[in-house]
Amino acid sequence: TRSTVHVDVAGRPYDIYIGPGLLAEAGTHVTALRKGARVAIVTDRNVAARHLKTVEESLSAAGIAHTAIVVEPGEKTKGWAGLEQVVEGLIAARVERADLVLALGGGVVGDLAGFAASVLRRGVDVVQAPTTLLSQVDSSVGGKTGINSPQGKNLVGAFHQPVLVLADTSALDTLPVREVRAGYAEVVKYGLLGDRALFETLERDFAGVIGGGPERMAAVAASCMAKAAIVARDEKETGDRALLNLGHTFGHALEAGAGYSDRLLHGEGVAIGMALAFAFSARLGLCPGQDVTRVVRHLEAVGLPTRISDVPGALPDTDGLMALIAQDKKVSRGALTFILVRGIGEAFVAKDVDPDAVRAFLSEMR
Ligand code: NAD
Ligand code: ZN
Repeated sequence: TRSTVHVDVAGRPYDIYIGPGLLAEAGTHVTALRKGARVAIVTDRNVAARHLKTVEESLSAAGIAHTAIVVEPGEKTKGWAGLEQVVEGLIAARVERADLVLALGGGVVGDLAGFAASVLRRGVDVVQAPTTLLSQVDSSVGGKTGINSPQGKNLVGAFHQPVLVLADTSALDTLPVREVRAGYAEVVKYGLLGDRALFETLERDFAGVIGGGPERMAAVAASCMAKAAIVARDEKETGDRALLNLGHTFGHALEAGAGYSDRLLHGEGVAIGMALAFAFSARLGLCPGQDVTRVVRHLEAVGLPTRISDVPGALPDTDGLMALIAQDKKVSRGALTFILVRGIGEAFVAKDVDPDAVRAFLSEMR
């Protein structure tokens, strides 16, 4: 009931352990990794209430000195004030270069704690212990860390690969189902961008992945493997890593349009964005229409949104959405870069996409 995925990034390989009960073994894994290190846990209030004690008891049982910094849950914490709180907390706890930061939580905690570790004393190692499906399949792997600026998401950050990832699938048992579904959108993404067979497995097994059956661990492992392979090829996103942005250009514009509120979770925006990327690719004559239908049908079966009109409440008009797309960091010097598809499992990076074609498509899709 365990899998290990090895991530081979330039010079700093690390393992991802996947399976139930890993948080309760944190002490053993930290000892195996680095004898004598002290551990500073960074977590949020929701996760602390459910899983902090398990980790603390395991570290204590292994004789490891530890401390915890608890931040407020939510995307707003992933900003300058949150960074200050965590870094100052780590300094106050006298964390030294040879100690470890343990990020216990979802992508917000992982990105924030990872970035704090990267700047503390010019770099302290971080162990990622992701507790949301999204963070287990995506954000804890690959080394992107950072915070939001008032001017945009993820504008400040660093590449800081973890030294170990502990993806405890039993931690997901306390996660609200809406968050599970949103994370599942990123699992589907790996199938859609490069692995048709994975997509077909998910069409069959999705209820088990969402509901917490044995299929869930397999899906987390398949996702980590897919991401690890891409990151190994292109750590700093000069090429193939951009494929991971499938559905994200449209998705980010919708998230921004909804004010990053709980009207639209990140994964929900990605689900709509992937449906739009398929439809847009079909419109350009690149992708067969039946693949669009099949993707939309699967996302709907899972309970994910697929249309712009599925976002509750008001959104900016088409020009407003276009402005948000142009602000996205995937844009360089006016030309739009999109991840488009030739079919399920066949995504590619399209540079120089005509903004007028995007605008016409968007205004029809509302
Ligand atoms: P999140 O960290 O906000 O977690 C979602 C909610 O679930 C929060 O309220 C949290 O407190 C709660 N929670 C977490 N674990 C729980 C558990 N086991 N039981 C009950 N509640 C739990 O959100 P997320 O979706 O995990 O991450 C989103 C963030 O990840 C965004 O900031 C996004 O930019 C970032 N991200 C980063 C990368 C990357 O490569 N670094 C990739 C994708 C996303
Ligand atoms: Zn994403």
